[in-house]
Amino acid sequence: MAEKLIVIGGTAAGLSAASKAKRVKPELEIQVFEKSGYISYGACGLPYFVGGMIAEPDDLVAVNAETMRNKRGIPTWIHHEVTSINRGEKTVAVKNLDTGEERIHPYDKLVIATGAVPAAPPIPGIHSEGVYYLRTVEDGIRLKATVQREAKSAVIIGGGFIGLELAEELTLSGVSVTIFEQLPRLLPFLDPVFSQSVLENLERHGVKVHTGTGVAEILTQDGRARWVRTPQGETLETDFVLVSAGVKPASGLAGQAGLTLGLKGAIVVDDEMRTSDPDIWACGDCVQMKQLITGEPVYVPLGTTANKQGRIAGGNVAGGHDTFKGVLGSTVTKVFEQYIASTGLSLEQAQAAGYQAVSTMITKMDRASYYPGGRDNQICLIFDRKTGRLLGAQGIGSESIAGRINVLATAITCGMTVEAVNELDLVYAPPVAPVYDPILIAASQAV
Ligand code: FAD
Repeated sequence: MAEKLIVIGGTAAGLSAASKAKRVKPELEIQVFEKSGYISYGACGLPYFVGGMIAEPDDLVAVNAETMRNKRGIPTWIHHEVTSINRGEKTVAVKNLDTGEERIHPYDKLVIATGAVPAAPPIPGIHSEGVYYLRTVEDGIRLKATVQREAKSAVIIGGGFIGLELAEELTLSGVSVTIFEQLPRLLPFLDPVFSQSVLENLERHGVKVHTGTGVAEILTQDGRARWVRTPQGETLETDFVLVSAGVKPASGLAGQAGLTLGLKGAIVVDDEMRTSDPDIWACGDCVQMKQLITGEPVYVPLGTTANKQGRIAGGNVAGGHDTFKGVLGSTVTKVFEQYIASTGLSLEQAQAAGYQAVSTMITKMDRASYYPGGRDNQICLIFDRKTGRLLGAQGIGSESIAGRINVLATAITCGMTVEAVNELDLVYAPPVAPVYDPILIAASQAV
């Protein structure tokens, strides 16, 4: 009889795993269960769907359930929630959310790719109507409908990447946005100079930003969020509240099944993405991963990682032995005309990891100074003073900063020193880069 693989979760990690397993071992009998109404969607595009740049929810979907079944030979069920895992019997219980019917499905191998869920800070009123999150397509549809119902004002709780992307999109939709960030600065892993620059950029576009101040209470009118109250007792009227206060791994099923959990409750996996049960793999935002430089466990939920881990888990379920080496946590975002990218350790993280870490920062035009349209790139390098090893890099400026931080991510991955980075043979032409690229200027300042 054909071996049965069940995959729980039908987006980045889950579908990567299912598709890879089928490619490697076509005889596998695979089923994917997804509790939401969408599979294979780009959650990363949701802020732009809410803002209107992306018109339809289906535009975010790469592959639908029909294609999965008919073209890839993988039956994929939406509105089907896995409610429990029985490791002894090697079965999962699956509830059809449309009919309420529950069925038991046997497996030989299981992949858990249940992702993450938005964190809800313990604020009175947080579960009221008019309080939104943005994680799934359904969340996006609800939020967009509210924005389109002529919302004039919004409060965003949390000044992380998603909060800032939404601040941009809501502002461009004509909504007056106020951000409350409990920590002393926005994007706190960035150098304080960069955090300040992000804050000033938001304020230049009319976004009001309160740092070092959370929301103490959400007050309602007829059950719907209408005001927020700060710890200082000030109240602010708002048409809706958006919570963007980070995510937590959706590891409840794994925990109930007795699998080992680690940091923040994320599922512990080995380098081959295998859990503490030899017949169960896990991947994506529900798992703990390894920081590439320190080797320490971290929880860095990103789409890039989820896709790669899914592919590795799928290949290994099908008999392979690929390994996932770890993450640098490379990220980039755009807030109005400002691009912000980072990779590796921040100065604080590097020092906490025991390095004699120092940082250096430069500002340099992103192309030849005489060529029209140039914009400043600011680059911050974090490196070990003792060995010169590059440990982290952050950049802020024009779109080209993403490519520069990618080069530095490569350098970190290869264990390069700032001296070696300074000797890189990088491109030059007036419209795209100055003769000494900002990367080289930053490295030369570090040596
Ligand atoms: P998820 O995408 O969370 O998918 C897990 C799926 O499992 C969900 O669809 C869920 O419904 C399903 N599920 C859970 N439990 C069950 C169950 N019991 N039964 C059946 N199904 C279940 N990352 C980047 O790298 N770059 C970006 O620019 C970026 N921007 C983002 C913007 C937004 C607004 C958001 C929300 C995320 C962004 N991310 C970004 C993060 C990225 O989207 C996630 O890292 C990625 O989606 C994780 O994929 P995953 O498959 O592990 O988990």
